[in-house]
Amino acid sequence: MSTRRRAFLCCLLLPFLAAGQHKTRNVILVTADGLRWQEVFGGIDPLLQNEKSAGMEEADELRARLSAATREERRRKLMPFFWSTLAPAGIVLGDVSKGSSVKVTNKYHVSYPGYSEILTGRAQDGVIVGNRPIRNPTQTLPEFLRRKLGLTKEQVALFGSWRVFHAIGESKPGTIFLNAGYRELPAGLSPRLEKLSSLQFDVLTPWPTVRHDYITFEMALEYLRTAHPGFLHIAFGEADDWAHDKRYDRVLVSIGYFDRALKQLWTAIQALPEYRDSTALVITSDHGRGGTVGDWTSHGQSVPGSEQIWLAMVSPETPARGETGFAGEVHQRDIAPTILELLGIDYREYTGVLGKPIPQALKAHFTPRPRASTK
Ligand SMILES: [Zn+2]
Repeated sequence: MSTRRRAFLCCLLLPFLAAGQHKTRNVILVTADGLRWQEVFGGIDPLLQNEKSAGMEEADELRARLSAATREERRRKLMPFFWSTLAPAGIVLGDVSKGSSVKVTNKYHVSYPGYSEILTGRAQDGVIVGNRPIRNPTQTLPEFLRRKLGLTKEQVALFGSWRVFHAIGESKPGTIFLNAGYRELPAGLSPRLEKLSSLQFDVLTPWPTVRHDYITFEMALEYLRTAHPGFLHIAFGEADDWAHDKRYDRVLVSIGYFDRALKQLWTAIQALPEYRDSTALVITSDHGRGGTVGDWTSHGQSVPGSEQIWLAMVSPETPARGETGFAGEVHQRDIAPTILELLGIDYREYTGVLGKPIPQALKAHFTPRPRASTK
């Protein structure tokens, strides 16, 4: 970072920090594997809604329920809670058609590099090159937060549908509470968690490494209510796998469930005194995917557009501006430093971080003040 840029950021953030106004004490990160910006901002895709090769030949009910004349109407039908309640309460970035862009900086555009970029604030090109479950060599944000905030292992939790999170989520195994893929929970947590732990093996998906999002989400929600973690990552997986299987009908159903889960999560946050008015909710994706009938199922270096993701944030520190008024480009690696700033932690304390806090996510950015040089 140049001195000038650093000076600018300091003047940007200092009035805010000095005022001691930080209310954010908890972070809930929600990721949806391979959920495209096209569906988030535009609902059911007119290119795919009648496409036989996408499993839509018998999807009359879905088409009738989700179709509409405009993108805005279609997205409200696909993700009603997200667009009616969450978006107006915070910010949403990444609608490429409106000049807002969120991009991954890793060069692979597949899941492990993407999740690692979210959880470490940097791409690790040449080290994390694909989805093989090698141990993340870098201390992750949840590991850093556990130490920085003096949290116990149980207060820093990750529930994921995809098995590989066991390798992604922590550089030192056992640092955080982590349950992903088909994996039993420790006994004695709560009757509901014991039930979900056994249920996961009775209701199988078609994929050996990805369990149902219902199991992952219900586990995380019960854990939130009973263990009160300060950091919680809930990682949904199904939409990506249905897309790889060329089943757009199932992708749409998965996104509908994702929206209902967000509503349940938001309701829980409002109902729990430990979380109400003190929680940052950060929602994003690990990668995009193709934008044509030929390549929407896929993603990776050779698939144009799969570097393009989206990001939503709601927190006490974040302005309630919805998606309007934002232009320009931010990056996946900026998510971790932004979370640190929301918590009132100087992101530069996190060694090796390459991203920068996203100014639009901070109310201080919009506080009227004498205009400093921003070049
Ligand atoms: Zn994928």
